[in-house]
Amino acid sequence: MPEIPVELYEKLKEILGNRMKTEEDFLEKYSRDETAELQGSKPGVVLFPISTEEVSQIIRLANEYMIPVTPRGAGTGLSGGAIPTPGGIVLSLEKMNKLIEFDEANLMITVEPGMITSEIQKIAEKYNLIYAGDPCSSESSTIGGNIAENAGGNKVLKYGPTGAHVYGLEVVLPTGEVTSFGGKMVKNVTGLDFVHLLVGSEGTLGIVTKITLRLMPKPRYSVALLAPFESVDAAISAVPALIKDAGVMPSSLEFMDNPSIKLACDFLNVSFPYSEAGAHLILEIEGNDKEAVADEYEKLGDICQREGALEVFVADNRNTREKLWKVRKAIAEALMVYSPVHCMEDVSVPTANIPALLKGARQIAKAHDLGTIAFGHAGDGNVHITFIKGKSSIEHWNTHLKTALANLYELTKNLGGCISGEHGIGLKRKKYLPIAVDQAQIDLIKGIKRVFDPNNILNPGKIIDV
Ligand SMILES: Cc1cc2nc3c(=O)[nH]c(=O)nc-3n(C[C@H](O)[C@H](O)[C@H](O)COP(=O)(O)OP(=O)(O)OC[C@H]3O[C@@H](n4cnc5c(N)ncnc54)[C@H](O)[C@@H]3O)c2cc1C
Repeated sequence: MPEIPVELYEKLKEILGNRMKTEEDFLEKYSRDETAELQGSKPGVVLFPISTEEVSQIIRLANEYMIPVTPRGAGTGLSGGAIPTPGGIVLSLEKMNKLIEFDEANLMITVEPGMITSEIQKIAEKYNLIYAGDPCSSESSTIGGNIAENAGGNKVLKYGPTGAHVYGLEVVLPTGEVTSFGGKMVKNVTGLDFVHLLVGSEGTLGIVTKITLRLMPKPRYSVALLAPFESVDAAISAVPALIKDAGVMPSSLEFMDNPSIKLACDFLNVSFPYSEAGAHLILEIEGNDKEAVADEYEKLGDICQREGALEVFVADNRNTREKLWKVRKAIAEALMVYSPVHCMEDVSVPTANIPALLKGARQIAKAHDLGTIAFGHAGDGNVHITFIKGKSSIEHWNTHLKTALANLYELTKNLGGCISGEHGIGLKRKKYLPIAVDQAQIDLIKGIKRVFDPNNILNPGKIIDV
């Protein structure tokens, strides 16, 4: 366990003044993220820089004294990425949260990494534009954290994950050097695509200090459909049919099984149509032509009914749409409150294999006598299969969870999928990575890490051990 020498504390204090914290309550608060099944570990100090120059100075000192640094956004991560090395430095980007430039002519916005995602969405809205990144944690997560995890969310089906909107990054490299990748160019094949190497690198290859994102014109019309189904199987079987047969690309196609809806409704103290149905789908369609949007949602509604939907509700105003989304977005938070001992997964498979994934996951839970619920971004093949301790003992949970996870990851791989679609590997899935990628790829990840971070001081022990 690293120990920060007094001399280093003094040098950090000189740079940061009272934005350096060593009080117990800070160390405790910054010891973990939202990954339910991982223990935290206390850092030796928490730092709140306000400029790229300060970040660079901190990283240079960390190299000199060989003390590990863990970058941190809002700590909403679900793979343990922001859990610090015990005794090391937590570098919180929370105070670097400003708008740097809104460039209407180029439809680009440049912000600091600590800006909360929904703030970016709100700024874009003011100009009749959208920022299309939309994780369910948008009200609390930071854009820096979204980039580090390549966060997905509810609109990936049409607009792609966070990385699809990132055009330029200013980065403090693990050596302390500052560089900029990309820019405002829509096309760029000059050198390697470092922007998208940094996206999803989980804070292991650099600290993102400035971000340029592309915005898009706001579609004039949005309509959401809610389709309850008798059973999970009926709802999930409709997903590939909706993608294949409608000739329409919805911006969202979300799935919630009955226990997920009950959890979220209890948490929010609201009711939901057909609350006893086995599962619900939410679809959202966006466009500029009212009649074309109506035509598209009718097509999707017809397919839902053909596939056995008990009803198709149309939410064509902002108020009703927001009510639906509130329930969908509350599921993860409700889980943390009502079922704190759980393990939320984010495996991802080709959409046509979604029914097989859910069937197999239920069999795995049954074989290990664990509870399970499922919800998520079914339209892009990414479902939050969640194992729950339920009434079993904690010993049973601890013994069976590891094997159940390995079984789930094997199943996903056999279905042509991957073990994490949006939450990342971090600490949580590190030991399972060899199930998903071969040795050649693990060696490449290690080699890239060594080139960027020769002293292995930036978020060490995440994704792989070097
Ligand atoms: C209720 C809830 C709902 C969620 N819904 C979704 C969802 O729909 N889709 C989804 O993808 N995720 C979701 N998540 C997971 C989480 O919100 C995302 O992974 C998010 O991107 C993390 O952002 P953060 O600011 O909290 O980052 P943190 O948790 O603080 O950090 C995450 C990782 O990013 C690194 N990092 C942070 N800032 C920087 C930076 N500036 N430079 C370099 N590295 C950095 C950290 O070291 C760490 O490895 C959800 C989480 C919760 C609790």
